[in-house]
Amino acid sequence: MTDITNVTVLGTGVLGSQIAFQTAYAGFTVTAWDIDDDAVAKAGERFAGLAERYVAEVEGAKDGKSAAALTRLTATSDLAAALADADLVIEAVPESPEIKTSTWQKVGALAPEKTIFATNSSTLLPSSFKDATGRPAKFLALHYANQIWAQNTAEIMGTDDTDPEVFRTVVDFAEKQGMVPIEVRKEQPGYVLNSLLVPLLNAAGALYAKGVADPETVDKTWRIGTGAPRGPFEIFDIVGLTTAYNVSVMGDETSQRFAALLKENYIDKGKLGVATGEGFYRYE
Ligand code: NAD
Repeated sequence: MTDITNVTVLGTGVLGSQIAFQTAYAGFTVTAWDIDDDAVAKAGERFAGLAERYVAEVEGAKDGKSAAALTRLTATSDLAAALADADLVIEAVPESPEIKTSTWQKVGALAPEKTIFATNSSTLLPSSFKDATGRPAKFLALHYANQIWAQNTAEIMGTDDTDPEVFRTVVDFAEKQGMVPIEVRKEQPGYVLNSLLVPLLNAAGALYAKGVADPETVDKTWRIGTGAPRGPFEIFDIVGLTTAYNVSVMGDETSQRFAALLKENYIDKGKLGVATGEGFYRYE
């Protein structure tokens, strides 16, 4: 089994920055790559912000652990340098088939033979990119949830070509990284989590769009009836209402009605969810 020591994260946006920081926090040496020097400068700010967030929210992070993570983390826009000694590459570039394909073609040509490749894509299947990597046996999906330090699932999903030993190595890595590995045994759009979550959110949006129940009533029903800590509209606020809108506007007639409500009642008023302090609910 390959020993994972050096991890390279491609893309330092919402998820890439969290993956890079969490991996360094867990003791690995991490190189974060992004497209240009501006993006690299922003990455530095994101890492500093995460270091503070961990101190506030993660037990044990106060004891210098968060600061130590920053010392194991470097960022660069030089792809060849970022890959030179990588044991594992985790890709978190934008969710665009073109960008992902061209990124994997470049990475496949530059990375050493030993390197295992993983994509964090939420909606695109790893088999769509396995040929672009040039090494399908060493390629799989490793999918995190937003707010990785708290929602710490890591869904591991190979293609028909993924070497079972590579799969095990990545499951083992995810555990050492502080995640709960979720082994997905077949390619499935949405993995396990979104296969459950997306239909729930769609159903909630439809109840609201059809005037059956308002968001508070839907959430209250779900919380009391199942014992779940949050209702679907509280989850929408965490996901962000712009993302909810972008997905709903492409759906059926009811989804589009929900998208219109989102736009008129929330997005146009700057209520985008937890990130802006207000969405369906208000936040401190
Ligand atoms: P994001 O837009 O916040 O970040 C993307 C990063 O990739 C940016 O830093 C950007 O500079 C960089 N990048 C690299 N190559 C690029 C190129 N050629 N063109 C433009 N930008 C380039 O995106 P994100 O939300 O972090 O999502 C990244 C991946 O993670 C996606 O595959 C997404 O499906 C997945 N994901 C996202 C979430 C989430 O909640 N945001 C959750 C799980 C998985």
